[in-house]
Amino acid sequence: MGAAVRIAVEGVVGEADGAVVCLARVVKGPVEVGDGFDRAVLADGSEAPVELRIVAIRRSGVELRDLPPGVNRIELSGMDAEALRGVRELRGRTEGPVWVWPADQVPWQRAFNAMIEDRVVTRENGCPECGTGTLYLAFSIDGPESRWVERGEAMCGVGRHWQWCAQCSTAEYYCRAMVPEWARAHVVAEVTGWRDPREVVRLLGL
Ligand SMILES: [Zn+2]
Repeated sequence: MGAAVRIAVEGVVGEADGAVVCLARVVKGPVEVGDGFDRAVLADGSEAPVELRIVAIRRSGVELRDLPPGVNRIELSGMDAEALRGVRELRGRTEGPVWVWPADQVPWQRAFNAMIEDRVVTRENGCPECGTGTLYLAFSIDGPESRWVERGEAMCGVGRHWQWCAQCSTAEYYCRAMVPEWARAHVVAEVTGWRDPREVVRLLGL
């Protein structure tokens, strides 16, 4: 199941190399080249079908210094500038995980910290993003197992850590994490290099 992507179009700058250049604010979802949009919300609130893909997002550089916070310069392919002027928002779905938005980090981490305190790797209806999704927590141990105590918690190794909502595909990934002893039974194996939690969570067999 895909995850929601929404971008508020704040202005059309022009066209360059076959792409429409817009100023836009990401309302929800990833901002990666290639994300598709299939619906446009017009100025009067009605919706129209579109077929658009992001070509490039310019987040840094001299030309962006005067942009308001959160506004990106985005290049979109598949629609001309004139047609896009009446568009207020673009909506679509993406198949990949949606990395937690910085503004949402505090409630997201609070939910997963509570799971770690309760020593559980799944929690139904626990997602701060969508409210209804089941949260999953996964660890790997990379390298030799070892034993030590960290803030009163027994640890068994160092590895990686994935957080994931099965409903809205929101996710977070940590490339280095301490693995608590209680989670040892749920450690996933043979996941070298994977950031995408969808495949990793499947290995938990839950
Ligand atoms: Zn969710």
